[in-house]
Amino acid sequence: MGRKLLLEHINVPGINTLEVYRQKGGYRAVEKALKTLTPDEVVEEVKKSGLRGRGGAGFPTGMKWSFLAKPEGVARYLVCNADESEPGTFKDRYLMTHIPHALIEGMIVASFALGAKTSYIYVRGEMMPQIRILEKAIAEAKAAGWLGKNILGTGYDLELYVQPGGGAYICGEETALLESLEGKRGNPRIKPPFPAIAGLYGCPTVVNNVESIAAVVPIINDGGDEYAKVGIGRSTGTKLISASGNLVKPGVYEIELGLPVEEFIYSDEYCGGIANGKRLKATVAGGSSVPILPANLTLKYANGEPRLMSYESLSEGGFATGTMLGSGGFIAFDEDQCIVRNTWNFARFYHHESCGQCSPCREGTGWLEKVLHRLEYGHGKMSDIDLLVDVSKKIEGNTICPLGDAAAWPVASAIRHFRDEFEWHVKEPVKSLSSNYGIANY
Ligand code: NAD
Ligand code: SF4
Repeated sequence: MGRKLLLEHINVPGINTLEVYRQKGGYRAVEKALKTLTPDEVVEEVKKSGLRGRGGAGFPTGMKWSFLAKPEGVARYLVCNADESEPGTFKDRYLMTHIPHALIEGMIVASFALGAKTSYIYVRGEMMPQIRILEKAIAEAKAAGWLGKNILGTGYDLELYVQPGGGAYICGEETALLESLEGKRGNPRIKPPFPAIAGLYGCPTVVNNVESIAAVVPIINDGGDEYAKVGIGRSTGTKLISASGNLVKPGVYEIELGLPVEEFIYSDEYCGGIANGKRLKATVAGGSSVPILPANLTLKYANGEPRLMSYESLSEGGFATGTMLGSGGFIAFDEDQCIVRNTWNFARFYHHESCGQCSPCREGTGWLEKVLHRLEYGHGKMSDIDLLVDVSKKIEGNTICPLGDAAAWPVASAIRHFRDEFEWHVKEPVKSLSSNYGIANY
C-alpha cells in the first residue's frame, strides 16, 4: 500500500466532524505552527517539502509564499481555489466532502505563515453540498477556538469565509477568481503583476488549490524534510488523482508520486484495469487541458522505459511524446472510443467557457469546435485537419490566460497521434457516424 498523507482516515466514520478529526490527530499542525514556529519558519518547512501546486500548474508552493509582498500597513490575503471545474477532476470536491477540517486546518496554518487575517475559500457555485459542509465545519472550528480572535491564546486572529463561485470554469483561473471575489465579472487579469504583489482588492494575495493547502498539514506535522522523502525527484509527496473514463474502478486515489502509470491503471489497489476486458486506446493524464496520449506512450517513453506518475515523467519527451500531470484528472479511453468525437467534446467545452476577452481564444475555440463538429458528423474535408492544427498554433501562447492553450493542446495532440482516425472520418463519412475506427490500426 502506498503512503497516505491526506486520505489516511477517509473511511473513519464521522471524520467530517471536528470531534473525530481531533481524535485522529487533527489540528496538531495548528498547535505546532502557532505555538512553536514563526510564520517564516512555517514558510521554510513548506519550501523544504518541495510541495508543488496541486491545482495543475505545479508551481513550488513555498516559493509562491515567499514571493508575497509585505508592505507595511497593507492587508494580505490567502484565497483557496476550490473552483474545481477541470473536466475529469473531482479530487478537491472529494476532500472537502469527506475531510473538510483538513482544508480548514491547512487554511489556518497557511494564513498564519502568510500573515493573513482574513482568508477565503472560493468554492465552485455548483458545489452547494460542499459549501454547506465547509460552512458547518468552519462554525465548529470557530466555536472550539481554532478560528476567530486570539487563536490558542497566541494573539493571532483569523476570519475564514466560504464564497460560492458563479459557476463559470474561467473563475478557476486565479485572477478571474479574484475579480469574481471582488464582485465583478470573472475576467482574467494580465499577469504580471502576479497576485503575490497585487491580488484581492489590489493587496498581496496567495491563491492556492484545496489539495495544496491540505498538504500543509502533514508537512507541518512531520516536517518538510520528511515530506520530501515521499515521492520521486522534484515530484515530492503524494497526489490525489481523479480517475475516470473506461476504468474498472474509477474514483479518487492518493498515490505516491513516482508510481508507474501501468500500476496505477492495472493494479487492483488503484483502477483495476480497463472496464469490460477492453484494451486501453488513449489517456488524458492531467484533466482535459493537457495533450492526449496514445496507450503505448502513456505506459512507456518512446525508448520503452516505464512512465511514472510524476510531473517530470509525464512530460518526458515534450509534447511530441509526452503530456503533463496537470490537475491529476486521469481520463482513460478504451478501444471503442472515438478520438474525433472526444476531441470535439473538449473543444465544445472550451468554446463555451471562453470569457471572450482575447480574440485568438474567443474566435479560435469557436473554429475548433465547428471544424471538429463537421469532421465528426461526416461533412469534413481533408484540409480541415491541417486547419485545426493551424488554428491551435494561432491560439497557443497568444492569450491572456491558459484557457487558450488548454483548448489548443488536446486538439493538436489528438491530430499528432491519431491523424489516421481524423482522415478516416473524411474518407468514410457514413461509416464513421455509426462505428468507430477502433484500435487495430495503431
Ligand atoms: P501559472 O503557471 O501561470 O501560475 C502558477 C502559480 O504560480 C500562480 O499562482 C501564479 O500566480 C504563481 N506564479 C507564477 N510565476 C510567479 C512569479 N514570478 N511571481 C509570483 N507568483 C508567480 O498557472 P495557472 O494559471 O495558475 O494554472 C494553470 C493550470 O491550471 C493549468 O495547467 C491547468 O492544469 C490548471 N487548471 C486546473 C483546474 C482545476 O479545476 N483544478 C481548472 C483549470 C485549469
Ligand atoms: Fe478569456 Fe480565453 Fe482570453 Fe482566457 S484566453 S482571457 S478565457 S478569452
